[in-house]
This record gives sequence, C-alpha cells and structure tokens, in this order.
Amino acid sequence: MSKQVAIIGGGVIGMASAYALVRAGHQVTLVERQTQPGLETSFANGGQLSYRYVSPLPDAGVPLKAIAWMLQGASAPLQFRPRLSSEQWQWCLSFLAACRRSVNRRNGGHLLRLALYSQAVLQQWREQDGLEGFAWKRNGKLVVYRSSSTFAAAAGKIASGDEQRALSVDECLALEPALGDVADKLAGGIFSVSDETADCYLFCQVLEQRLQASGHYRRLHDQVTGTHREGSRIKALSLASGSALAADEIILAAGNGSQAIATPLGIKLGLYPLKGYSLSLPAANGAGCPRISVTDFDRKMVYARLGGQLRVAAMVDIGARDAGIDPRRMRVLRAHCQDTFPRAGHYPDAREWAGQRPSTATGTPLLGATPYDNFWLNVGHGSLGFTLACASGQILAELIGGAASPIDLTGLRAG
Ligand SMILES: Cc1cc2nc3c(=O)[nH]c(=O)nc-3n(C[C@H](O)[C@H](O)[C@H](O)COP(=O)(O)OP(=O)(O)OC[C@H]3O[C@@H](n4cnc5c(N)ncnc54)[C@H](O)[C@@H]3O)c2cc1C
Repeated sequence: MSKQVAIIGGGVIGMASAYALVRAGHQVTLVERQTQPGLETSFANGGQLSYRYVSPLPDAGVPLKAIAWMLQGASAPLQFRPRLSSEQWQWCLSFLAACRRSVNRRNGGHLLRLALYSQAVLQQWREQDGLEGFAWKRNGKLVVYRSSSTFAAAAGKIASGDEQRALSVDECLALEPALGDVADKLAGGIFSVSDETADCYLFCQVLEQRLQASGHYRRLHDQVTGTHREGSRIKALSLASGSALAADEIILAAGNGSQAIATPLGIKLGLYPLKGYSLSLPAANGAGCPRISVTDFDRKMVYARLGGQLRVAAMVDIGARDAGIDPRRMRVLRAHCQDTFPRAGHYPDAREWAGQRPSTATGTPLLGATPYDNFWLNVGHGSLGFTLACASGQILAELIGGAASPIDLTGLRAG
C-alpha cells in the first residue's frame, strides 16, 4: 500500500531514503533547510565508497594514540579540544567504553554487513535505473603503509580470496604510478579490488533530478522546528514557515540537526559532530595525479579522483566550536597532500571545505523504529555516510512498507 512519507533532511541519507521509497511506490515529501540537497556534510566528503574498510574509529589503543596526537598539535590526524559540555563528555565516555578490540570487531562486522548490502543496492539502482552522472568508478582502493610493522599487521589480517591483496612497493607503483614521489617512504599496500569512488554531492543532485521527474516527490525548502504528537504517533511536523506537514510515516535523517528534533520526543541519539576537512583540486593530466583511490594509512588521508578533480579528505576534530575551516589544519592537509602527490594538480586553485560527521560513539548508525509507531530513524552514519546511504535508505523503505529488513539489524538499531 502506498504511503505518504515525510523525510527530515536532504543529505545523502535523506535523499537515498527518498529514492528507495519512491522506487517502492510511496509518495515522499522531503524537508530540507538549505536551498538544495547535499549542501552540508554530504557536500565535499572523501568520495570513498569504502565497502571493505569499515572499521569503526573506537578501538583498543586509540585512547593512548589520542594522547600522543594531542601533543602533536595541528598536524595530528585527530585533535581533541575539551569543552565544558555534558554532551561532549557523555559522548567521550561512551567512545572510551567502545575502545576495546572485541567491541571494535563486533561493530566492524555490523558495518561490513550494511556496507556490502549498500554496494549491492547501488549496483541495482545503477543497472536497473541507469543512474549516472556522479563520477562513479569501481577501480579499487589502495591503502598504503609508511611503517613496515603496521603493513605487516594489516597484511596478516587479509582474509583468503581475491577481494584483497597485499602488494610490495613496486607492485603499488605499477598500480598507481603517481605514488612515485613517495616510493622511498612506503612499506607496501593492501589493494581492495572492488571498492568504489563517486561524488556524494553529485549523487544527491542526480537522485533529486530522478525524484522530481518521478511525480511522486516534492521537496520543501523549510526547517522542521518541532513535532505534533497524538498518542503513540507523530501526527505532523511544524515548519519554520509556520505551516504543518502531516504524513503517515516520518523519517528523521537530519544529520547533525537530528538531536534537536529527537530530544523533545524523549529519544536520545547520542550523536556528536566530528569535524573533518577536504581539498578539491583541478587534476593535472599525466601520471602525477592518482587514478585509483589511495588511502595513506599513517596520515589517515584519503585521495579520490572524481571526474576532473582530485578530492583529498582527512582529520577528525572532537570539540570544534563550529563547522568553519581551521587554517592551521588546512595548511597541514595541503602540505601532506603536496608532499605525497606534488604533481597532482594546481594547488593554488584547490577548494577548501570542512564538514561535521554526525557520529555515534560506537561508529554504528541508528536505523529503524522508535517508540513512536510512525517515526523512524536513519541517523549517525559518521565517517561512512556515503558508503552506507543506499543500504540505509533501502532498509527504511522495506520496514515502512511492512516487510522485514533485508539484512540483520543487530547492532544497527536505536536502543
Ligand atoms: C571530511 C569528511 C570526509 C568524509 N569522507 C567520507 C567518505 O569518503 N565516504 C563516506 O562514506 N563518508 C564520508 N564522510 C561522511 C559522510 O559525508 C557523512 O556520513 C554523510 O554526509 C552524512 O549524511 P547525512 O545525510 O546524515 O547528513 P547531512 O549531509 O549533513 O544531511 C543532513 C541534512 O539535514 C538538513 N537538516 C538538518 N536539520 C534540519 C531541520 N531541522 N529541518 C530541515 N532540514 C534539516 C541539513 O541541512 C542537511 O542537509 C566524510 C565526512 C567528512 C566530514
């Protein structure tokens, strides 16, 4: 049966949910406070559809590393600024509780299940609907290691099969000649054959065009300011424009804006914004600019060729005051990038960006039902929102249609 579904938020998570719902025959109204979809955290992220590298941030050893990183200043991959905020301290305590090998493995398994399903859903949408125009490529992901001990440890963890291969430095260079300028600093690499890259903002735009053309979708440029409850249901959403939006079912997919809507309903999401940065530079022709997706493991930086540009993304700032660009962090990002790929493109023309990952302390998103009969969550995708968006949207569409989730949701539900 076709339902009227309201979605709060037009980032990649809200857009993928809308697309999956319209495909399943529902009518969707999406409320987005910005003028277009995909302008907040989904705008200039790393572009990685990192289906096989989904290990959550909290892990054994991270608290010790975080102390070393605090001493390292602006060049550290992770910066922590303590604030007088109960929200920050509660999140940090839950994060520390998740910093155990067993918990990391368990949550990594939940993320892997969701990520592999996401790859299958995107493949279905691309093949059946001819989705294109978002710089999508499946040419694998090469993770390079500067330290031989971390490389040896990573190589030891590769499961048998053809999906991942450990490569010598020479083999890394044969695969990606642009690494030639740092060859003497590398210990080796792990290549995941089937990982993909794409432009997340363009993906949101492509979904928007398809949705508008479907005749079963409308987008309101407005802000959700509250909810009208009636017993165990949410009857309508109040909007900043003064009107109300009624719907049979409501999905909360408002990224960092989600908690403000959930709190008055008594729903704790435990989200915290983790800031990161990116650079997008016009790619040079020739061998100086990487063609495949490269991750610099020790510097925690990702590189993706998205059409005519190279996207570089990195860093986690916990406790940043706002979403603005910290010039010291951006200088480090530029320097690291220029040092690794000096001939990748024209650095003075690089576009700078900062975004805030809507993150749970465990690194796993919150999908599905809430205590309210018609109010659903699709939030907390942290550093993997683009990777996980198609699966998360499809799962919500199945649940709203009254079917069972297509994958086991253990570890991926609220509460
Ligand atoms: C530096 C960096 C690099 C990253 N790299 C990758 C990567 O390589 N691969 C990957 O998979 N992920 C990556 N991510 C993570 C990914 O970008 C996020 O997980 C994803 O964009 C989150 O999507 P979202 O839809 O939940 O949030 P958003 O994109 O922020 O969308 C939420 C939307 O809700 C709207 N909204 C909020 N409140 C309201 C309200 N009250 N009313 C109406 N609208 C509202 C906002 O305007 C916004 O558009 C990266 C993130 C960063 C910061």
